[in-house]
Amino acid sequence: MFNVTRPEAVPASLARKIYNHADVVNILKPMFHGKCYLCERDEIQDVEVEHFKPHMSIEADKFDWDNLFYSCSRCNSIKSSTHVGLLNCTDNSINVFREITLRMSPAIDDDVIVEANNPNPSAETSRTVNLLKLCYNSTNTALRGVSRESLIEQMYDYMVTFVTARSLLKKPSTGKTIKNGAKEVIEAMLDVKHPFSAFWRWQYLHDSFLNQAYPELENGF
Ligand SMILES: [Zn+2]
Repeated sequence: MFNVTRPEAVPASLARKIYNHADVVNILKPMFHGKCYLCERDEIQDVEVEHFKPHMSIEADKFDWDNLFYSCSRCNSIKSSTHVGLLNCTDNSINVFREITLRMSPAIDDDVIVEANNPNPSAETSRTVNLLKLCYNSTNTALRGVSRESLIEQMYDYMVTFVTARSLLKKPSTGKTIKNGAKEVIEAMLDVKHPFSAFWRWQYLHDSFLNQAYPELENGF
């Protein structure tokens, strides 16, 4: 997960009881770096304006600017109205990245590992862990099997990029120019704007070579 900062200005459509007009989406998209706030994918053909607290047809929640999030349809449908009391990534008093560790398995069909980072997690963290496990792994319908495959393929491509860059940095035979390029690849992937950034950040934190040789890359997380 990743933190975002919500601009204070409330889009005008909300006063007219519309929450999915361009003025709302055009602020949400850059605010969430174009990523689904749950799975962190950015190539979203099926963007939805998600209600963090299910609105249950209550207007105060349905058109509340603070309640509108940017998500893909897979995560929105998995979350539905059953997952509530989650970590709020727009609350900058909580570092949501540090709350939950995320790791991919090199075996693509294996479940993505989602765990609370602290031994005594908050109720919000535990509930968010349970939801993210479903967002990354659920194949309980035919369509979810297909959407999971496309999600994991995107993540896997990035993981290969990360591991290749890391390997170039480790090899004594790699020249200075190539090393600089490889370092820039990893730096870009650790940026919060990058798709699935939480995965690459945990990958970096769990790699003593990378975090000892390049401590400056742990910047801002
Ligand atoms: Zn998603």
